[in-house]
Amino acid sequence: MELACLDLEGVLIPEIWIAFAEETGIDALKATTRDIPDYDELMQQRLRILDEQGFTLTQIQDTISRLKPLEGAVEFVDWLRERFQLVILSDTFYEFAQPLMRQLGFPALLCHKLNVDDTGRITGYTLRQRDPKRQSVRAFQLLNYRVIAAGDSYNDTTMLTQAEAGILFHAPENVIREFPQFPAVHNYGDLKKAFLAASNRELTL
Ligand SMILES: [Mg+2]
Repeated sequence: MELACLDLEGVLIPEIWIAFAEETGIDALKATTRDIPDYDELMQQRLRILDEQGFTLTQIQDTISRLKPLEGAVEFVDWLRERFQLVILSDTFYEFAQPLMRQLGFPALLCHKLNVDDTGRITGYTLRQRDPKRQSVRAFQLLNYRVIAAGDSYNDTTMLTQAEAGILFHAPENVIREFPQFPAVHNYGDLKKAFLAASNRELTL
């Protein structure tokens, strides 16, 4: 039994916070876990900026509604789902992901949740659990699944390590250098081949 686990942002869809930063022109919202490794510190900074600027969830969702999956992502997801059970493991929030998940055909998504008050102000967030991507892979392995995982950044590396096979996709140079144990690919054609190579079944392109 094999399961495919994919990161979402940077692998199938654009980075949501960067898209919102670009649309609003607020450069400080472009910071990611690459700039501020502590996720809680990063999120507190983002929420502080949203408050200062008076942005509500609805305005962010408005930006997200205009985003599209990365070129080729829909076809790749369809291809993968014909060959593997697919679960998306993401550090985004259900309130953000919905319109993009619709375009991807609603694969299973495990992520986090925002806390929002009556006025639409984002007051905080609820993390599903600590180290959620790795814990999810561990849980699937307890269900006797063999997991092949792909992601693009630091927050994916514990998932890639825990999986039977980990693949870096679209990863920046520093991540590829730091984690030479994972094959690194840069387009969906090569990602398909990497999944086939990691599978213990006889699958074809
Ligand atoms: Mg990512």
